[in-house]
Amino acid sequence: MPLERTFSIIKPDAVERNKIGEITAMLEAAGLRIVASKRILLNHDKAAEFYAVHSDKPFFKSLCDFMCSGPIVVQVLEGDNAVQRNRDVMGATNPEEASEGTIRKEFALSLEKNSVHGSDSLKNAEIEISHFFTQEDIIS
Ligand code: ADP
Ligand code: MG
Repeated sequence: MPLERTFSIIKPDAVERNKIGEITAMLEAAGLRIVASKRILLNHDKAAEFYAVHSDKPFFKSLCDFMCSGPIVVQVLEGDNAVQRNRDVMGATNPEEASEGTIRKEFALSLEKNSVHGSDSLKNAEIEISHFFTQEDIIS
């Protein structure tokens, strides 16, 4: 399996409930290594840029407001097949559809407040990592 890097966010709903450690433990247990991590506060422009692909969706403004509502933790995860591995441990976007043992099943509050973000492809992982980290920030 290819060694990959992917991008993860622990969203404001989970940071607010002090779940950084429990979520990170689930990522690590899934075979992912945290190779860069920082706690930040997004502003509205940055959130809108990050979620530009959803700018025509009805939930866009609410999503951007939510993502700016409190601190988040942005991380680079490394591992075999990291993009899909992270998506698997995250669970379905809608927590009502998420499988047992996934982060969203365990922690998500709603379809919007679903505790984590993860890149959906290797190409997007590269783009999303570059929004927040330089190559020097990432220590394998
Ligand atoms: P994922 O985060 O699983 O890749 P999407 O890229 O489709 O999901 O959506 C980005 C984020 O937008 C979701 O994680 C969720 O926070 C929010 N979202 C998606 N669909 C809806 C919706 N129908 N109503 C409210 N929020 C949504
Ligand atoms: Mg997505």
